[in-house]
Order: sequence, then structure tokens, then C-alpha cells
Amino acid sequence: KSFDELGLDLRLVHALKKKAIEKPTPIQEVAIPLILEGKDVVARAKTGSGKTFAYLLPLLHRLLNESLSKSKLAPAALILVPTRELCQQACLCYEYFEIISLIELCKGQVQLKVVQLTSSMPASDLRAALAGPPDVVVSTPGCIPKFLSTGVLQSKSFSDSLKILVLDEADLLLSYGYEDDLKALTALVPRGCQCLLMSATSSSDVEKLKKLILHNPFILTL
Ligand code: AMP
Repeated sequence: KSFDELGLDLRLVHALKKKAIEKPTPIQEVAIPLILEGKDVVARAKTGSGKTFAYLLPLLHRLLNESLSKSKLAPAALILVPTRELCQQACLCYEYFEIISLIELCKGQVQLKVVQLTSSMPASDLRAALAGPPDVVVSTPGCIPKFLSTGVLQSKSFSDSLKILVLDEADLLLSYGYEDDLKALTALVPRGCQCLLMSATSSSDVEKLKKLILHNPFILTL
């Protein structure tokens, strides 16, 4: 099947073509239609399997095609990654880079604001990143409680606006000791928020996280 046949927005399909990406990988072929339907998904997928686009493409499709209420201080989609270097301001995390470059390839046909929030960002940069407000935030689990406690993000807005939550490399998220932060976050995830959990392995920790956040997820192992 082609990306077009999977039901993806043609703007995204054309942007992929410009990256010479035309055929979905096995994980993408299965995950994209399920995520487009709004299902919770747990996918066991390694780096190199195309797992980032497997969630990014349907996530962007949903943001482009559903009228989402824009909240002042919280995004519609939150992608949490374990990347430690994300805390250093200068670094562009890979997932963030993938979205930004895809949107750029859409050549002005896609207006989505994507930001990465890091704990080392000065308050003025944070406010600038959140002014607008962003549609997608990429961050680490440790940043979120910190920003909520300082009021940079607001819990109420979070539970009003969050539509899609992605936990990428969930096995690493837990091994880096983010469990408490993730627990605090789950309290804010509204009912009806689509949760996607990507993990290279299936450990008891990942099982725990799955029970904590997901509702009757589809489990994909490829
Ligand atoms: P990931 O598994 O998400 O780390 O992706 C690994 C690499 O594969 C990235 O550089 C992607 O740009 C690329 N990629 C993702 N999906 C496809 C695809 N369907 N065809 C060819 N390359 C892809």
C-alpha cells in the first residue's frame, strides 16, 4: 500500500515524496490507519523501523484535519522523548527535527507551530515558545512537572486541550527514572486523549506504563 492509500493527508504524502519516502514500512502500514482512527496504540518497534513517522504522520494528519480547540497554555499534541541532550538548549532533538523538516517540505500549505521545551530554556524563551500557542510540544517527561509548577504550562489548559500524547522510546523513559514524572502527568491526561506508546522492548516497566496511561490499546509487535 502507498501512504495515500493508508488515508494520509496528501500534503504529507507529497512532503514525504520530496524526501524520497514513498512506501510505508511494515510498522507504518499497520500503525497509521489505527492511529488515524484515534485508537490507542502500543508499538514495539526498533530505531530504523520507521517508528517515528509511524506516529508522526497520523498525528500531523489529525492536527491538520480536525478542528482542535486552541488553548492558551497547552498544546494539542505532546511528544515525550527520553533524549537527555534535549535538556541542552542548542540541540535539536531528532523527533522535533523530523516534524519541522516535514512541515517545511509542505511549502506553506501546513501551518502548525511545533516547539521543543527544554529545562535549560530561559523563562523568556519559554514564553516565546508557548505564545501563539504551539500545536505540538516535544519535551522530556522531567520538564513537564517543572513547567506546570512554575505556571509556564497550566494543568487546566492541559486537560482541556491535549488530544494526542506520545511516549517515544518508553523503555528508555523508564530506565532514565522518569516514572514519577510520568505518573504526575497521567493525572492530567484528559479522557479521550489518544495515547501512543512506542518501545523497542516489552519489559514489566513498559507494561506498568501501559496500564497507567492507555485504554484498551492495540498492541503491535513487528
Ligand atoms: P526511525 O525508525 O523512525 O528512527 O526511522 C529511521 C529512518 O528511516 C529515518 O531517517 C526516516 O527518515 C527513514 N524512514 C522512515 N520511514 C521510511 C519509509 N517508509 N521509507 C524509507 N525511509 C523511511
